[in-house]
Amino acid sequence: MRISMPLALSFLLGCVSNVLGQGGDVKPLPLPKTIRVQSAAPRGEVWAKLSPREKMLAYHLIQAANAGRELLFQRTHRHSLTIKNVLEEALSQGQIQKTKDQLGEKAFQEFAVYSAKFLDQGGPYTASNRKYVLEQATQSQIQALVDGSKSAFQLSRQDRTGIARLLCDTHYEVQQAPESPDGKGLEKTGSNFYEQGITGPEVMAVLDKTLKPNINSRVIRSDKGLACETLTMQSPKVVGAALQKVVGHLQAARPFALTAHQNEQIEAMITYFQGGDVEDFRQANISWVRDRADSRVDFMIGWVEFEGDFLSRMAAWESYVQIVDPEISRLAQSLARRAQDFENAMPYGPFKKKFPADYSPPALMVYYFQVISGFRTAGYNLPNFDDIRRDVGAKNIIRLPMPGEEADPTLKALRREALQEFLPASKVDPVMANRETCYRNLVLMHEIIGHGSGTYDTSKYGKTDDPVSILGGLGSALEEQRADLTALVFVDDPKLVEIGACKDAIEARLFRQLTYDMYLGDFLLRLSRDRTLAEMHQRGHWLFINKLLKAGAIRWMARDGGALTLENQVLAVVDYDQFQTVARAVLGELQAIKANRDENQLKAMFNEYALLSAIEQPWAQAVIHRGQHLAINAGYVEQPWRVTADGKYEMLGGNTLESIAPFWKP
Ligand SMILES: [Zn+2]
Repeated sequence: MRISMPLALSFLLGCVSNVLGQGGDVKPLPLPKTIRVQSAAPRGEVWAKLSPREKMLAYHLIQAANAGRELLFQRTHRHSLTIKNVLEEALSQGQIQKTKDQLGEKAFQEFAVYSAKFLDQGGPYTASNRKYVLEQATQSQIQALVDGSKSAFQLSRQDRTGIARLLCDTHYEVQQAPESPDGKGLEKTGSNFYEQGITGPEVMAVLDKTLKPNINSRVIRSDKGLACETLTMQSPKVVGAALQKVVGHLQAARPFALTAHQNEQIEAMITYFQGGDVEDFRQANISWVRDRADSRVDFMIGWVEFEGDFLSRMAAWESYVQIVDPEISRLAQSLARRAQDFENAMPYGPFKKKFPADYSPPALMVYYFQVISGFRTAGYNLPNFDDIRRDVGAKNIIRLPMPGEEADPTLKALRREALQEFLPASKVDPVMANRETCYRNLVLMHEIIGHGSGTYDTSKYGKTDDPVSILGGLGSALEEQRADLTALVFVDDPKLVEIGACKDAIEARLFRQLTYDMYLGDFLLRLSRDRTLAEMHQRGHWLFINKLLKAGAIRWMARDGGALTLENQVLAVVDYDQFQTVARAVLGELQAIKANRDENQLKAMFNEYALLSAIEQPWAQAVIHRGQHLAINAGYVEQPWRVTADGKYEMLGGNTLESIAPFWKP
């Protein structure tokens, strides 16, 4: 489970599209005209502070993660890996000029942005379940590029055409996964979790009877009907080859493990990738939780989060190598020690946890040294196995900005511009001045207290079931919003003053206001970026926004106070106390649904308060339109970098897309 990044370094689109808002079918996203390249220099400062042993451990873990990167692509589309190779080849040192000549300047720039996005997000789809589409380059230009590529020549004519259509055709495999819980339209989506052509009704007919997909499964057709294949080191082709390399690097990392628990974690992961038994991954997670914050270099690798599978049973690949900041982690630790006090104050009825007396879940404030994932996060809380969470505990990882990142004037200007668009004018300066701290507190509460809280009626779930996974896509939206609401309800709690998250009661009160203001602005900004309400965090936000509107706690108003128009309207808090009261009520409601496995109520509530079709309404289309000029919505990619076996940190290329693109090829 994780929290996505509000008002931070968003990573999707931002330019003109003429295909939006014409009827109900799903539209692809247009590419931004350009994309910011974020300097890799601050990361070097983090690296320099590691001991030689920590550097060696991190080096081997980074190698393992790099080897596993193909497994992220392998999930997102049946052609993702081929396309990755085609793009890297076309932009390589030897080919880039030829590609430019072939496409022409304008189409080449667009192609470079497309490639940056594709490689960054691990495939053709954004986290909001839409594909980008090329508008400058023609389909025949892309077809020629694909046909001429060494990476695609072994594919059939039909597959090569499929690739060109995926990049250019506005109607072809626009989504990675269906957005309806019964999998309607699965056969027209692109994800590779299911063999191409398998339909939703086919899956639902045998699900949990003869078909039991797990995190590392893929659903295929067999002569006995639908079946699961398990991804392991023995799997044919890319999957097996990648996992062999991952295992090799993990074996090299093991002698440098910093603690006995970390050693166990690495060992269990090796066994898991070799044999594919999820029990070994569970063991790895248990060791990882037990290692607490004891290892300065910490990591997670595997099929972890449920993204891209409409059933939320099979997981996407990801890897994190993170460096703990022990100093700042103390704040998180003192919050974690208060878990029981927060639990006692939850609006949960009987479904409250009773933590052991010395309970204090590990909470790490970390630099994300290397992240390979389809999704940018501000933190995460794992494992996703609820029985482990209950019996052993969970671990919280909170992302710290890289040293100096928050002071970057370019980034500050982008943020201000976004706030000016989507906040009441009077709120821009105060939010700007405090957003970093308010946001940090929000993330801490979301991860450490929110996801860690609450029990459920075990008679309604299987012994090792994860309720969120059982509740499907809406369950994920529920869980993320439940964690957010925990943060919003307790935003000015005296306990936060006691641990030093805010100075005093006056600042706590101020932070309550600014956090609520920021939350509304962030909702609109995300909507303008994603152009859909379907992403699971945003779906939960949408539910809550409607509850707030209905209660009259917030309202639409003109940004500068004048007459309301679609171009100037923003959401504003009418009554902060009432906002908090609504948050508390919805938190209780969501927990009751989770605890009682009330699937009907879950559906009914989202049907009433969080309809996806709202995106077609004029206000939503206006928000999207207003987001088109925001530079923050164009997103960013990181300057490539590498670490070497002798402990050096190196940056590659400069600060333009064209200067870094040739380094994308591994
Ligand atoms: Zn979360």
